[in-house]
Order: sequence, then C-alpha cells, then structure tokens
Amino acid sequence: MEILRVEGVNKSFGGLRALNNVNFSVEQGTVHAIIGPNGAGKSTFLNCMIGRLIPDTGTVKFGDISLTGMKPYEINQVGVSRVFQTPEIFAELTLLENVIIPTMAKRDGQFSLRPFKRLDRDAEIQDKALHMLEDVGLAEKKDVISGSLSRGDKRRLELAMCLSQDPKLLLLDEPTAGMSRADTNNTIDLLKRIAGRGITKVVIEHDMHVVFSLADKVTVLAQGTIIAEGKPEEIKGDPRVQEAYLGG
Ligand code: ADP
Ligand code: MG
Repeated sequence: MEILRVEGVNKSFGGLRALNNVNFSVEQGTVHAIIGPNGAGKSTFLNCMIGRLIPDTGTVKFGDISLTGMKPYEINQVGVSRVFQTPEIFAELTLLENVIIPTMAKRDGQFSLRPFKRLDRDAEIQDKALHMLEDVGLAEKKDVISGSLSRGDKRRLELAMCLSQDPKLLLLDEPTAGMSRADTNNTIDLLKRIAGRGITKVVIEHDMHVVFSLADKVTVLAQGTIIAEGKPEEIKGDPRVQEAYLGG
C-alpha cells in the first residue's frame, strides 16, 4: 500500500530549476532512500513534502490526505515527522526536556513551553520521554544541556524527538552528515533497529553507500530530475547513477 504520493512537483528559485516534474511514491512500511550529488534538489524536495517550501506546481498526498498547502505543523500533526540536515534542538534545555516538548505536543495537540512548570507531576510524559532517549542510546545524558552534545548525539536526540511523536512517516535529511565513521555506523544501526516498528522512512543521502544497507528502494535525483529508481542492487550498477555522481 502506498503511504505517500508526489505528482508533478516543480520548484524554481529565480532562474534555477531545483525540481523538475518530480513524481515519487513510497510504500508503507518500507525504507525509501533518495540519493543524489550535492545540489541535486534533495533538501528542496523534502521541504516541499513537509510544507517548508511550497512547490510551484504539483501535489503531495499522504494516504488520503492532501498535504499541498498545509502548514508544517499541520503536516506534523497528521503523522509526518522529519529530521533536518542541521539538527533543530533547544540548545539551552536538557536532553530530557527536549524530548518532553514534542511528547507533550503529541499528547495534548499543541506546542508549548509553559507545561514545564508542571513537569514533575507529569510522570507519564517523563517516562515516555526517557524511554525515547533509551531507544537512541542517550538515557545516561538525560540531564545534560543539549548544546554541549557532539554532532552525532544531537542528531540522535533529534531522532528521539521525532520518534516521541509516533510518526507514521519519518523523513530524514542526511542523518549521518558530518559524522565520524563510528557515529555513522551507530546511526545506521539505530535506523535499522527502529525499522521494524512499522514507521515508513524516507532517508535522503548524499553518500550513496550509507543507504544501501538500509533501503528497500532507492530513487536517484540529479539536477532536480529523477534519473533512476529501483532496488539498491539495481541502482548500484546503473551507469546513469555513476555518471551523475562523477559529473556532480
Ligand atoms: P541537495 O539537498 O540535493 O544538496 P538542495 O535542494 O539544497 O540540494 O539545492 C538544490 C539547488 O537549489 C541548489 O542549486 C541550491 O543552490 C538551490 N537552492 C536551494 N535552496 C535555495 C534557496 N532557498 N534559494 C535559492 N536557491 C536555492
Ligand atoms: Mg541537502
């Protein structure tokens, strides 16, 4: 069954055509990778799917829901979460507080910093937030101020924040960007571990080798156009893909 369908998306920045008639669909429960060289339009595409950018033309459907024209927070509320290329966390709050915010937002249907005053009384939220930190291997650091984390830990924290919202679809923009080899491997292991939970994932990657062990299906974007699509083993040997990377 299809969970996401994108049809005819175009997006230009002035004279630059960043996305050129992109058609794309994702099967429920799968890990779908979007790869392509730098500047291919991957982040632009993700932003068009989650309402951060409005496509010039085209439609995005999530199940029966048309996401076209919806605000990012509305898209988030229907079950679509995303992890950006640059982690977006509250640097001056602790890890636990960072996860409590989206956990509460999910339960109470609104985003607010105010409930912190009642935090000590809300055991249910605390427990869930802590559980999410355990999931990503950060429980020991729950009281650490988030701004002091390594880049890899910040990304894991952001992932915990996303997972706390029980998303149906999770979009990740270069989840291992800027990470050491060890952190990259840890993150891939983590993504594999959470893969079994029925959360559909779209993983955007510049480094095509990172996603080959993760993805059920791979879509290759180059200069705003989809140039190939298929199983990882089909994509690996595709001369068009090799050329896009060498030329890009
Ligand atoms: P990728 O994520 O694949 O590296 P991007 O989607 O970030 O690629 O960018 C695709 C193209 O669009 C690039 O040429 C980039 O410079 C351009 N671009 C992206 N965002 C903007 C913007 N806000 N304004 C102008 N040009 C942009
Ligand atoms: Mg990008």
